[in-house]
Amino acid sequence: MGDGGADPRRRVPRTDVLLADPQLVAAAATVGRDRVRSAVRQAQDRARRGEIDPAEVRDAALADLPPPVPRVVLNATGVVLHTNLGRAALSEAAVAAVTAAAGYTDVELDLGTGRRARRGRDALRALAAAVPAAEAVHVVNNGAGALVLAATALAADAEIVVSRGELVEIGDGFRLPDLLTSTGARLREVGTTNRTTLADYAAAVGPRTGFVLKVHPSNFRVTGFTSAVPVRRLAGLGVPVVADIGSGLLVPDPLLPDEPDAASTLRAGAALVTASGDKLLGGPQAGLLFGVADLVERLRRHPLARALRVDKLTLAALAGTLGDPATPTHRALHADPAALRERTERLRDALAADGRKAEVVPSVAVVGGGGAPGVELDSWALSLPERYAGPLRAADPPVLGRVVRARLLLDLRCVPEGADGLLRAAVLAVPGDD
Ligand SMILES: *Cc1c(COP(=O)(O)O)cnc(C)c1O
Repeated sequence: MGDGGADPRRRVPRTDVLLADPQLVAAAATVGRDRVRSAVRQAQDRARRGEIDPAEVRDAALADLPPPVPRVVLNATGVVLHTNLGRAALSEAAVAAVTAAAGYTDVELDLGTGRRARRGRDALRALAAAVPAAEAVHVVNNGAGALVLAATALAADAEIVVSRGELVEIGDGFRLPDLLTSTGARLREVGTTNRTTLADYAAAVGPRTGFVLKVHPSNFRVTGFTSAVPVRRLAGLGVPVVADIGSGLLVPDPLLPDEPDAASTLRAGAALVTASGDKLLGGPQAGLLFGVADLVERLRRHPLARALRVDKLTLAALAGTLGDPATPTHRALHADPAALRERTERLRDALAADGRKAEVVPSVAVVGGGGAPGVELDSWALSLPERYAGPLRAADPPVLGRVVRARLLLDLRCVPEGADGLLRAAVLAVPGDD
């Protein structure tokens, strides 16, 4: 017998089934199980009174509860690492590791001996294994923290020699020179905005030098009459070279030929490399430090290291990320444009079947998050009238696109393939009059 003939009251989902629903379980974690149970009961009563369809009970209960914080969103912007959207989306392996680490763990205990052990050694071992050129590794709160620790531990009463072309602003008003001088280090600026030579560095290096800093200008490009000195040549100056590569690429990626990676930078002679965990590595927010053993040890032993210490969830996420290199970031960067076009066309056709007109247009996706500024990734987007932008931001889940010339473009490159149905439902939920 089909559902249509049954008494609707018989179709009201059971309480235990509803309470096991993943979204209601997640809601219970924030607002408590009693609050969820009461929302479920009220929704069931409404269905029994015939006010809503029994199939809507779960959604009605969810609608009655405050949304989980933070909101999960669909990133259809075509910006792979969007700082406002939390940069990298974690891999399934990383998410599983974070969930497992949420309880008591052996983060700082050797189960064999029962004694204290090096904190986060699994993540550190995985990081060291991923970059064999590093004698030692360390992890702090974020890329900026890694630089602050290096400046404090190695140059607090000394000079950091740095090119004027590399004194960058990271974003949101945070400027590298301010960050560095806040540690007590003095900046010895050399060269000019567009040109710095090895002789400029050589003239500035002396007994007061703490280290020479090489910063990858990750979020802008200077073109034309330019010259910069590679790490390989700076390494011959007789002082440590600290390289802030920013992106967190561990080994070269042919897709991003201009992005420095940790392994090559160390092999070129850098004594210390700093990078972010939530950019091209596709992991959690973290500051990664790679380098020669004695320098890394000085950083690790500095009192400030304790203030920049990462929590067990970050360490778990990092270990999970390194265990499964096919991160969402990697997949989004390397997605095949032809496959993206097919997906987008399928979505367009599905919308057309529901009387909603959208176009498929070429799109240009970017790395974002202050990385690979010149790199354009060929992509495809669903094009809708601009008026969809606001309602889609308010949808559940919220959908973020980008507005170009009065059109809202939804680029599927960073949308998980399994979420195309959600995207379609969100578009259809916007009242349509086009
Ligand atoms: C992103 C970036 C930073 C800052 O790293 P956070 O992890 O955001 O603190 C510093 N330097 C460079 C070159 C960067 O690209």
